[in-house]
Amino acid sequence: MRIGIFGGTFNPIHLGHLRAAEEVREALELEKVLFVPSYLPPHKELALGVPAEVRLEIVRLSIRSNPFFELSSFEVEQGGNSYSVRTIEYVRQRFETVPWFILGQDAFNEIITWYQSSRLFDLAHFAVMSRPGAERPELADVLVEEAARFRPAPDGYVSSEGNRIVFVDVTPLDISSSKIRDLCHQGRSVTYLIPKEVEEYIERERIYE
Ligand code: ATP
Ligand code: MG
Repeated sequence: MRIGIFGGTFNPIHLGHLRAAEEVREALELEKVLFVPSYLPPHKELALGVPAEVRLEIVRLSIRSNPFFELSSFEVEQGGNSYSVRTIEYVRQRFETVPWFILGQDAFNEIITWYQSSRLFDLAHFAVMSRPGAERPELADVLVEEAARFRPAPDGYVSSEGNRIVFVDVTPLDISSSKIRDLCHQGRSVTYLIPKEVEEYIERERIYE
């Protein structure tokens, strides 16, 4: 099965996430994209005032109409620090396949700082989505010594073990969760930036006031 893992805080999920994930799904012919909201440690939750359960609900509402999209509460159920390595291992076991890990260029550019980052590239293929404001540096500048394992391929890079890094140019939508939260805090409209169902939910539940 060709499966993608799309992780994030999704605080809240917005049309930048959803459209980019849909374009990656189509480009890579994925049969399923698992949306995996990260757990936030309690102190961070308090600071943001948005519990994991709420972010799960927001994602659930926004992907409901897409038969290829599925919610996973794996990281929330695990609690503590959410490590992508663990999530990838879980998906590999559950679906008996090498999954595609989907992330934006801004996140990819910092991947070397992630927990057990060198193992990540053995466990999954990577689909890196373009994102407004994020540059696409040379692989060696992002992966440092890990880059030596990869050689150029038509759509990105492939490692000696066959793991791929593919760059997908998605429709540039300059939307971020921080921007949504700011607009809400200011009492301004977020219409056409997030799905209607999410807008109604966060308004009704007064999530970002
Ligand atoms: P925040 O402003 O709180 O950081 P965010 O909009 O960056 O929120 P995240 O939950 O941090 O959202 O992002 C999850 C993943 O989605 C990351 O890999 C990020 O790069 C990617 N992503 C977010 N917004 C976009 C976008 N507009 N286009 C492409 N990728 C995006
Ligand atoms: Mg972000």
